[in-house]
Amino acid sequence: MSPLFPDLTLPVPPDRPALRFGDRSLTYAELAAAAGALAPRLREAGRVAVWATPTLETAVGVVAALLAGVPAIPLNPKSGDSELGHIVKDSAPTLILTAPDTELPAALNDLARVDVVDVEDVGATPGRTAPYAVEDVPDTAPAFVVYTSGTTGPPKGAVLSRRAVATTLDALADAWQWTGDDVLVHALPLFHVHGLILGILGPLRRGGAVRHLGRFGTEGVARELNAGATMLFGVPTMYHRIAEALPADPDLAKALARARLLVSGSAALPVHDHERIAAATGRRVIERYGMTETLMNTSVRADGEPRAGTVGVPLPGVELRLVEDDGTPLTAYDGESVGEIQVRGPNLFTEYLNRPEATAAAFTADGWFRTGDMAVRDPDGYVRIVGRKATDLIKSGGYKIGAGEIENALLEHPAVKEAAVTGAPDPDLGERVVAWIVPADPGARPTPDELAAHVAARLAPHKRPRTVHYLGSLPRNDMGKIMKRALKTDD
Ligand code: ATP
Ligand code: MG
Repeated sequence: MSPLFPDLTLPVPPDRPALRFGDRSLTYAELAAAAGALAPRLREAGRVAVWATPTLETAVGVVAALLAGVPAIPLNPKSGDSELGHIVKDSAPTLILTAPDTELPAALNDLARVDVVDVEDVGATPGRTAPYAVEDVPDTAPAFVVYTSGTTGPPKGAVLSRRAVATTLDALADAWQWTGDDVLVHALPLFHVHGLILGILGPLRRGGAVRHLGRFGTEGVARELNAGATMLFGVPTMYHRIAEALPADPDLAKALARARLLVSGSAALPVHDHERIAAATGRRVIERYGMTETLMNTSVRADGEPRAGTVGVPLPGVELRLVEDDGTPLTAYDGESVGEIQVRGPNLFTEYLNRPEATAAAFTADGWFRTGDMAVRDPDGYVRIVGRKATDLIKSGGYKIGAGEIENALLEHPAVKEAAVTGAPDPDLGERVVAWIVPADPGARPTPDELAAHVAARLAPHKRPRTVHYLGSLPRNDMGKIMKRALKTDD
């Protein structure tokens, strides 16, 4: 018998709060009843798509799929018809789970629709459901097919086993000293690993609680943390908004100061925002690093030294190495030698769905997964990501320059609100550093010379931007990741 996952038979008092979305909530007993009522229908279906709005219904649907032992395919409700059509064709679900009264786009017309109904009533009415015995499925069976964020190309479906999900959550629980007393403030979407697997299943696996805000807002974060929530998971754009709001919001500063853990992931947290939050609250945000394909790889530990600009150390069970272009592993922990991060461990995905060649190309002959992320290691083992191999590594004048540190330096300039750095072909240098700037005040743009001098003074002269473009905003996806392929890089 595979371990019951999520472990709804943990010694959790049945009336303990599990999930709250707005003013709707479920205890553990209610969640087990609501998901158990749905599970038999899913068992027949085999593979289910989930219309992953930030609702109780999405969470119940996903738990039901886990109980039934069938893979869930979370869909982003903001995706366009062509992306949804592609995902449904690729992953071939037999039905789609939705909240009642949801209007589904035409691309999903051919799928049988199952409304997740009456979740609060089913759970609260004794005798309405018989307890559902979890299906006996092997640990290697798929729990999810999650599509990557599409930052560097079209999204790919990563098949994630039950074991990968369970081990990553247990490794995070160890690193973050996560217990059943923790209450998570959640404001992330539910169609990626961060919001769904960490944000919903993580607390449920520990016997803790989730309070989902529906939409991110600093007021909601302050309210929940001041009301006793202990953890906040966010993406860097959320922490940026928090950093901006803090000077005028003592209530928010008080709320963050009392949180047990503030965690950032999905993209690099700018050092400037990390430092501003630390200065205003006395709390340092912890960064963790993961991918759809690998779930979580590293984190700053709750019992470790928090530090800006680093994603911490490998999680328990995760092997990590940095590798040079020719495949040689780096042995130096010098904070300078840059290599590609490769990982191995039980947290890894099984395959890219329907893409055997992409799957084969993603692994080395000895089974390491090539993340495509570039990093250095500090002498004490802390990993610092310098950027993605495909878009963030600029080969200029014989140097390999990471976009991230230049972005961090630019963000320290008071006239810069947002910054992205790319490389562009250059006849002399091979590539040159190009900065894309959103000025804090469009009427008072910092000049290219000023920005070049600012970077040269902080980093090194060869890292200064040679070209500067000014924009009203940066192209970002729904996780706040900068879509560098949407920035023109040839000039
Ligand atoms: P695609 O693979 O479709 O191009 P994606 O890589 O953005 O999109 P995800 O799997 O959601 O899709 O994101 C994983 C990537 O996010 C990592 O490879 C890394 O580049 C980035 N990332 C995640 N956490 C961090 C972090 N703490 N610091 C820096 N980068 C991070
Ligand atoms: Mg990726």
